[in-house]
Amino acid sequence: MQAIYTKSVKCCWRKQTAISTVNIYPRSHNGIRGFVFFFSQQLSPLQEFNNLKTNFVQIGRTIHAHPELGYEEYETSDLIAKTLTKLRIEVKRNIGGTGVLGIFRGSKLGKTALLRSDMDRLQMIELNDVPYKSIREGFMHGCGHDTHATRLLGATMILSEIKDDLQGIIKFIFHPAEEGLLRVVKYIEAGILETPPVDAAFEAHLWSSIDSARVDIRGLAYYLEKVPGAFFFVGTRNEEKGSTNKLHNVRFNIDEDILHTTSALFAELAVQYLNS
Ligand SMILES: [Zn+2]
Ligand SMILES: [Zn+2]
Repeated sequence: MQAIYTKSVKCCWRKQTAISTVNIYPRSHNGIRGFVFFFSQQLSPLQEFNNLKTNFVQIGRTIHAHPELGYEEYETSDLIAKTLTKLRIEVKRNIGGTGVLGIFRGSKLGKTALLRSDMDRLQMIELNDVPYKSIREGFMHGCGHDTHATRLLGATMILSEIKDDLQGIIKFIFHPAEEGLLRVVKYIEAGILETPPVDAAFEAHLWSSIDSARVDIRGLAYYLEKVPGAFFFVGTRNEEKGSTNKLHNVRFNIDEDILHTTSALFAELAVQYLNS
């Protein structure tokens, strides 16, 4: 089994698309299962959860200020697990080391979607002059993994608000050490894709050369060798807000508005997939 996008998107379709609302339609081609995504300019109905916006920003800033190396994300995984527990989401700790798995069950039976994030820092001195600057000299969230984790927590908050209408299960994996060599393979082995079995997986990485609030879909993820899904890049470049430096740069910083937009996008992806 393989996702159609691991082949088609990478070589043929790398169009950048504005983040707004997304519709997903399952497709199969020559026995390969995949999806067609339609992004439209209309605002996602899930964006309306504006009351959660401050929460996203605060959590993002806390994680940014306390960066931890791969396989040492103790405080970060604690914060993630506590936030998930508060939302009454089933939590499994120590996945492949410091990983955290959240299992969110909707009120109705249905498929299972997996949403993925990482959470490890880089070894570099942050030169951003911001209130949430890294308090750990020599370490920085220079690859945006603080944003990835925050975005996934944001999606869980939004999905909690619509739990009664949710049909199916969403698994949230916060895995350690994206910068490490083992990457996600170890976690697949740890059984993330089993009990309950995952039908599709979605993940995204920030990308600093793509404009803020735009996405670029590709097919690269290890998960996609096992189940259909999609990997995409989320733009964070915003000249007006000074968010122009590249990933792994000592002055890399995000346009914080994407915390809310992409939380809603991830929630929307899951809902659209479960309803497709
Ligand atoms: Zn990186
Ligand atoms: Zn990264």
